[in-house]
Amino acid sequence: MPNATALSFQNYIAGQNVAPAAGRSFVSTNPTTGKPYGTFAESGLADVDCAVRAAVEAGNGPWGKLSPTRRGRLMMAWGDKIAVNAEGIARMESEQNGKLVAEMRAQATVVKEWLYYFGGLADKIEGRVIPVERQSVLNYTLREPLGVVAVIVPWNSPTFLTIMSVAPALAAGNTIVIKPSEITSASAFELVRLAEEAGIPPGVLNVVTGGREAGEALVGHEQVAKISFTGSEGAGRAIAAQAGGRLASCTLELGGKSPNIVFGDATVENAVVGILSGIFAAAGQTCIAGSRAYVHSSIYEEVADRLAQRARAIKLGDPLLAETQMGPVATQAQLAKDEAMVQRALFEGAELLTGGNRVSVPGLEGGYFFQPTILHNVKSENYIMQEEVFGPVLSLTRFNDDDEVLALANGTRFGLAAGLWTRDIRRAHQMAKRLQAGTVWINTYRALAFNSPFGGYKNSGLGRVNGIESLDQFLQTKSVWCEMSEEIQDPFVIKV
Ligand code: NAD
Repeated sequence: MPNATALSFQNYIAGQNVAPAAGRSFVSTNPTTGKPYGTFAESGLADVDCAVRAAVEAGNGPWGKLSPTRRGRLMMAWGDKIAVNAEGIARMESEQNGKLVAEMRAQATVVKEWLYYFGGLADKIEGRVIPVERQSVLNYTLREPLGVVAVIVPWNSPTFLTIMSVAPALAAGNTIVIKPSEITSASAFELVRLAEEAGIPPGVLNVVTGGREAGEALVGHEQVAKISFTGSEGAGRAIAAQAGGRLASCTLELGGKSPNIVFGDATVENAVVGILSGIFAAAGQTCIAGSRAYVHSSIYEEVADRLAQRARAIKLGDPLLAETQMGPVATQAQLAKDEAMVQRALFEGAELLTGGNRVSVPGLEGGYFFQPTILHNVKSENYIMQEEVFGPVLSLTRFNDDDEVLALANGTRFGLAAGLWTRDIRRAHQMAKRLQAGTVWINTYRALAFNSPFGGYKNSGLGRVNGIESLDQFLQTKSVWCEMSEEIQDPFVIKV
């Protein structure tokens, strides 16, 4: 049993706090101070089984019996409650992942839009009448929920990413077991408490905490129909393999190595701001971090200078303070990874433009701070150009023509997002079409909306969140055939 901390959480199942069956727990750390944040249940098979059963029961019971319109209204009411409580949720998350409280607040406020949108779609899920050849038959489709959905989330945007999966899953009529990241487990409890306050029945949303073991128990549970996973490529592979073993379906939102491409005709100031916010917002800890930048030779020196000057001026500090521009990275392991990847890049021939080291912030000496870092003249074959850092490290390189930069931009196994900076409208749309990425931003970066599909090409994922099509991933279609004629049909003759 680890040292107890002031904040202590059990699992939350069917509207009750439930102690972990084996009595195990773990302690999470505040990365700004290096001190413990809270104690959480280390869940195993028995805990997961208990949560899944509660979700099955809620699906067969009150949630399954509710009309889609009522279901949607409850989701909207939940959104309002989350927005009202956004400040508390934001502080909780910032104290666990070190991201700016302002960003966490914005996320906890905006998720209501997801619950309004998908809540509004709940009573627009319609089957179809199919005009089959046999005229005496009525054939129609029913769109039905899958059952229990496991929502497994990472630490970098806990509420935002939880709601991105939960909103379409609930709208489709499923019930949920959430397994938050072991780094940021606290806010999920607050979300579920608020859901019940809004009138969503207990058992529709359940929370089990823990690490990989708890996640695997959930993915392997025979009554979990679907896994909606957001996290790393490696865990995504393991989850897809495990789920595939029992033919459960998965939506996977995975990592990226997203490029920003700055053409010679770009508005340089806008491109510089876009690149900086794309990589240094959240200390590079976003799936859509623009961690590679390709800049046309004609403006390379100017762009590199401006980026370096601005990066050096970024104010590191306590993410709870309004004046802080970049907080710590979330874990000691991430800090070590940032450092190791920069060292390896330098060894492989990249040059350091700025940053590159851990840094001690006065008053927060135990915190996990890393300098905003820019490497330049980085080659496509360098490890850092192919692998996600998930830290504040930008790799910069030059290019001369469109085909060359397209090959470079598409030259990784990831395909989450890409940014283009140009005033040439033809070039912009031609490149957008040829880029292998689930999202392409032209003269902007990091824009997302509840009604615009988001997801990865290649190894950045399977399926989409956001937008109407994401509902399909939480539904199954039944085809119903009804013979309307009294005339006896010969069952051994296929009639077309
Ligand atoms: P991670 O993959 O280590 O963990 C994510 C979650 O999966 C955690 O809850 C973890 O406990 C659980 N988990 C890990 N292995 C598992 C397994 N085998 N079975 C079941 N559950 C398992 O990721 P992380 O470090 O928390 O998050 C960072 C990663 O998430 C980055 O790669 C980032 O790009 C990615 N991410 C993707 C998106 C997106 O929308 N595409 C959004 C945010 C983050």
